Amino acid sequence: MTTHTFDIVVLGGGSGGYAAALRASELGKSVALIEKDKVGGTCLHRGCIPTKALLHAAEVAEHVRGAAHVGISATLEGIDPAGVRAYREGIVAKKYKGLEGLVKARGITTVAGMGRLNADRSVSVGDDVYVGTDVILATGSYSRTLPGLEIGGRILTSEQALALDVIPERVLILGGGVIGVEFASVWRSFGAEVAIIEALPHLVPNEDIAMSKGLERAFRRRGIQYSLGIRFQTATQDDASVTVTLEDGKEFSADYLLVAVGRGPVTSDLGFEEAGVALDRGFVTVDQDLRTGVPGVWAVGDITPGLQLAHRGFQQGIAVAERIAGLSPTNIPDIQIPKVTYSSPEVASVGVTEEAAVAEHGADAVVAYEYNLAGNGKSEIIGTGGLVKVVRLKDGPVIGVHLLGDRVGELITEGQLAVAWEAHPEDIAPLIHAHPTQSEALGEAFLALAGKPLHAL
Ligand SMILES: Cc1cc2nc3c(=O)[nH]c(=O)nc-3n(C[C@H](O)[C@H](O)[C@H](O)COP(=O)(O)OP(=O)(O)OC[C@H]3O[C@@H](n4cnc5c(N)ncnc54)[C@H](O)[C@@H]3O)c2cc1C
Repeated sequence: MTTHTFDIVVLGGGSGGYAAALRASELGKSVALIEKDKVGGTCLHRGCIPTKALLHAAEVAEHVRGAAHVGISATLEGIDPAGVRAYREGIVAKKYKGLEGLVKARGITTVAGMGRLNADRSVSVGDDVYVGTDVILATGSYSRTLPGLEIGGRILTSEQALALDVIPERVLILGGGVIGVEFASVWRSFGAEVAIIEALPHLVPNEDIAMSKGLERAFRRRGIQYSLGIRFQTATQDDASVTVTLEDGKEFSADYLLVAVGRGPVTSDLGFEEAGVALDRGFVTVDQDLRTGVPGVWAVGDITPGLQLAHRGFQQGIAVAERIAGLSPTNIPDIQIPKVTYSSPEVASVGVTEEAAVAEHGADAVVAYEYNLAGNGKSEIIGTGGLVKVVRLKDGPVIGVHLLGDRVGELITEGQLAVAWEAHPEDIAPLIHAHPTQSEALGEAFLALAGKPLHAL
């Protein structure tokens, strides 16, 4: 047994873990980053980056299909799965190389192997023990399935869906959340027949209802089918297809079934509980500063309860590193974290929905304004419909911003600043937005809420 001593030992090299390691090293700490697979984790290798590359390829296919509309002669001859794979893998490889270089340049010691937490603020990797003054747990999440629904063959999680070498002719998606909706969007653009099965009454059910309904209308127009509000019962597969039966007896058949019903925390059999780290339904219990109950042991990213997003992991990793170094970073509540679903159209939001605002403050205290992208010149030019919705407290700050439409994900930062800085629409309205941009749609909503609508009634 060899013992290695560091200021900080990070278990898991995904978004949360590597961000903590980078910031800690910047602050002069010695850091060991233990990773059993590849630094970069789910987001870089199996999540955000490869799926967004796929969505970009899908967008290009749609542009070629619609080229005649803007007077360009082009025909979509087909989708080349090997070519799409090469493009996607090329992006990931480049980002991975950059990240590895950065980690090395910061003097972080990366340890390849499976780590297990011990009770004395150390982590074992094989015969080696890495002891930290502080330990940060960042082991991430895995694709969940439902009881009786075994992954394998034609039944896939997002990992296998990404690795598919064919474009399915017909595909079923169980789960109408972010991951399900993004894959539906890609496969439809690649020419597949797609049906989504969602047990809750709407697609992207955590979003404002106006956005869910708008996305449903857009998907219907794109020929993406969906069944809402009815639960899955069974799935059977043979050599040729997979068949799903719902609780109302309805049956769907397809080449593949993607199971996208959420992600569970990777926290079992890693020594966490034996070391005294409390878990709640598998998630690590942390205080608002991300401390577990064990002194010197912290947790960040998808293993902590709340939004499972890469940028939340970055933020938490940075905050914990700073706290360990004696700084006092601001705690960012989930409500101030922007969320984007990168389908076509995109859905982006920050803050509360109108429904949640009314439930908390009462209908009389909440004002919501919707601006249709049909009135926005740039959206017309790029051929997208959609909606901007801003929720404010009456005579008070903006508390929610919700966007629907192609490329609107890029606009959510403005909503994030408004919500986090508790800006009033009257503060923002005079700051006229550049013309013609899609951001003007947000500007129109702020103008209207400030009582001086420009291109609206
Ligand atoms: C298909 C898909 C698309 C997504 N798209 C987006 C998106 O567009 N935007 C967004 O913000 N988020 C997206 N996410 C979510 C995002 O990927 C996660 O929120 C993020 O990766 C969480 O970071 P993390 O550090 O908590 O965990 P992870 O990224 O899962 O990293 C954990 C790391 O720990 C390692 N590990 C685990 N156990 C051990 C052990 N015992 N020893 C050593 N190493 C260990 C793992 O190998 C892994 O590398 C997506 C996820 C998926 C699946």
